[in-house]
Amino acid sequence: MIYLNGEFMPLAEAMVPVMDRGFLFGDGVYEVIPVYSRRPFRLAEHLRRLENSLAGIRLANPLSAAAWAELIGRIIDLAADDDQQVYLQVTRGADAKRNHAFPQSVVPTVFVMSEPLLPPPAELRRQGVRAISAPDNRWLRCDIKSISLLANCLLRQTAVEAGCDETIMFRDGFLSEGTASNIFAVHDGVLLAPQKNHLMLPGITYDVVLELAAAHGLQHTVRDVLEEEVRQADELWMTSSTKEVLAIVSLDGSPVGSGKPGPLFADMYAWYQEFKRAIMRGK
Ligand code: PMP
Repeated sequence: MIYLNGEFMPLAEAMVPVMDRGFLFGDGVYEVIPVYSRRPFRLAEHLRRLENSLAGIRLANPLSAAAWAELIGRIIDLAADDDQQVYLQVTRGADAKRNHAFPQSVVPTVFVMSEPLLPPPAELRRQGVRAISAPDNRWLRCDIKSISLLANCLLRQTAVEAGCDETIMFRDGFLSEGTASNIFAVHDGVLLAPQKNHLMLPGITYDVVLELAAAHGLQHTVRDVLEEEVRQADELWMTSSTKEVLAIVSLDGSPVGSGKPGPLFADMYAWYQEFKRAIMRGK
């Protein structure tokens, strides 16, 4: 069952008018919230990021944090799996005319669904993933989790056509992020993370990885990361709520470090799994 504009219904019955600004303009924002053992992870942080995304597109939040929490709780209850990814999307709604400027009175479209959340295949974890690079040709508000993902889709497709899993983007000689992930580099035992700003999505998993680094005494620095530092990294990692943390073992066809997932990745992976068990699942 999904939720659309006040009603719960089967996915196949959910319909949105073609005049919806999400359909016409990509005028909306979204969130993906991982759920482990039926507990949404960092719901308050996801709702805060949603609030920031909505403020960024000047759309009033249609629901209070408490109402979101209740709605998401119901969607989780209605789904079969214990581990889920809850997708939610808010658009500026449908108008009578196609007009770039905002409609006078907006009734946002609110859509929430749940899909099963599976950990990344063991093979990807053991062997690592391959990446290509590309100039970051997106707009300058990458901190907004916008449903306008055309650039991300084009860049990800380029990776897939090259037999790779992710595209790492650089802007003006600096690392920004992946098409659907944040990117970390390891240099001489130090974890380097680009600082959160308007050029990347502030990932919730990014926060977790930095917190785990701090908790376990892994040296880490948050600052602008040079393209050269990425190309010469001993290890590269990608993070997201659905992919957790994965090692990138090749970039543009060249091996990253040894060409195998590195020792610090093995540590971080183990810390992440333990965190998932103890904190995310609460077991
Ligand atoms: N950057 C981009 C562009 C993304 O799409 C995602 C995944 N939603 C991330 C980073 C990672 O964010 P999170 O850890 O919150 O999933």
